[in-house]
Amino acid sequence: MESTTENIVQVETVPLWIGGKPVTAESTRTGEVTNPATGNVIRHVPMANAADIDRAVEAARRALPSWRDTPPLRRARVMQKFLSLLHAHSKELARLISEEHGKTIPDAMGSIERGIEVVEFACGIPHLLKGEHSENVGTNIDSYTLRQPVGVCAGITPFNFPAMVPMWMFPVAIACGNTFVLKPSEKVPSASVKMAELFREAGLPDGVLNVVHGDKEAVDAILNHPGIAAVSFVGSTPIAKYIYETCGRSGKRVQALGGAKNHAIVLPDADLEYAANALISAGYGSAGERCMAISAVVAVGDVADSLVAKLKTKAEAIKIGPGDGSNVDMGPLVTSAHLKKVTGYIDIGEREGAKLVKDGRGCKVAGYEDGFFLGTTLFDGVSPQMTIYKDEIFGPVLLVLRVDTLDAAIDLINANPYANGTAIFTRSGGAARRFQNEIQVGMVGINLPIPVPMAFYSFGGWKNSLFGDLHIYGMEGVKFYTRTKAIISRWPDTGTPGAGLTMPTLG
Ligand code: NAD
Repeated sequence: MESTTENIVQVETVPLWIGGKPVTAESTRTGEVTNPATGNVIRHVPMANAADIDRAVEAARRALPSWRDTPPLRRARVMQKFLSLLHAHSKELARLISEEHGKTIPDAMGSIERGIEVVEFACGIPHLLKGEHSENVGTNIDSYTLRQPVGVCAGITPFNFPAMVPMWMFPVAIACGNTFVLKPSEKVPSASVKMAELFREAGLPDGVLNVVHGDKEAVDAILNHPGIAAVSFVGSTPIAKYIYETCGRSGKRVQALGGAKNHAIVLPDADLEYAANALISAGYGSAGERCMAISAVVAVGDVADSLVAKLKTKAEAIKIGPGDGSNVDMGPLVTSAHLKKVTGYIDIGEREGAKLVKDGRGCKVAGYEDGFFLGTTLFDGVSPQMTIYKDEIFGPVLLVLRVDTLDAAIDLINANPYANGTAIFTRSGGAARRFQNEIQVGMVGINLPIPVPMAFYSFGGWKNSLFGDLHIYGMEGVKFYTRTKAIISRWPDTGTPGAGLTMPTLG
């Protein structure tokens, strides 16, 4: 990323957060954080090296024994204070998110709310840490299980949800008695440090939550660190696969959530106005930089022409501007490199012969001429062989594919290697039921475009959208961050049998 001497000298460097306080990195390598609306460099971010990661892991390792042994109810009380502080500081957090990511303030507030719901869930975790117990599995022998923390856990998160995705991880891990090292995206580092500050203010002991910044060097140091027992990752598919394979080799517990290409089927019997509104919000919300964004609309039968006409009109009405502007529907893309990448896909789509119904290229916002803005873009007549269909674009580019039947629509979705979320718009209960049964995707919406499960369920895709066995947060999160120990006990004063060398049977 280019920068001028002028803006380099004026900006502050985001600290690492280790052992309950802000610290300077040992690494001297830094990156730039830009405000996507202005294009200005607003902060520097340290690119942590192996020594920095080691410091963070060491702090987490030292904090582990007493945090693990703190009664779950007391841990939950710290979580409750954190929850109140998150509410009190949500506007400040939303401003930080909007400033570094570009999304609108109301959208940033919504994402914080979804993260807060996970913290609310984590407040009730003592109930979920209960084990099982069976009396008299043999004569005078009892058997029971314990759910114990895994140890030092790490989280590596993407740029598109600077607060929510970290909150999918660390509240659950910490409420389960683990300590945590968080490496947020180097493009949006500030919200994570703010959350660590608030958690400390809530009474979290030093070292239980640590924040490090950086890129591949920091991630590799996390993956190779023998002191880390479990890694949660959310980001693009190639990196998710790399994380999964690397952790698998060293025997770390791992869940790695990847990218997406989410389809929405619109059947001829759907309420078209309702469906078009839903598709516009799911396609262009957060400038399409959501892993649950709808990026491919599958129009079935004769619904296509009128649906495309509605989408075009509604896409044209979207107001684009800085995330903190008033009456702005959609902000800029996160970086100039990402803007270039997404614009490049629009060029490719045109060359491949898709019909460009609305072109977002060349979008300029008055007063923000250096911002990374791209207008809403709509392609019709897209085919599954096209690059714009095969790749995850991750921008405000909505594709329409036309098929004749529900069968063909289901086959199309099931043939796609991504399988995060999907939706169907219909008035037919039978069609919806068939869709939910046959579709090979992790999260399914019926007349709802973005089926993100609540915090008391769990979030995760299938196929190339998730590597690992357990989904994130909810009960699957509790399972990920705990290990089950099975105990069988007999107390000799209830009757001692004689010595025997054969395999015991139920006596
Ligand atoms: P990314 O994969 O580029 O980065 C994610 C994290 O990995 C960051 O912390 C980054 O520093 C690190 N990283 C980047 N390159 C690396 C490398 N070569 N080696 C090791 N670590 C590396 O993703 P992004 O661009 O920040 O986020 C967008 C992607 O995340 C999209 O693909 C989106 O679909 C996906 N995403 C998925 C979900 C989900 O729940 N499945 C949720 C949000 C975002």
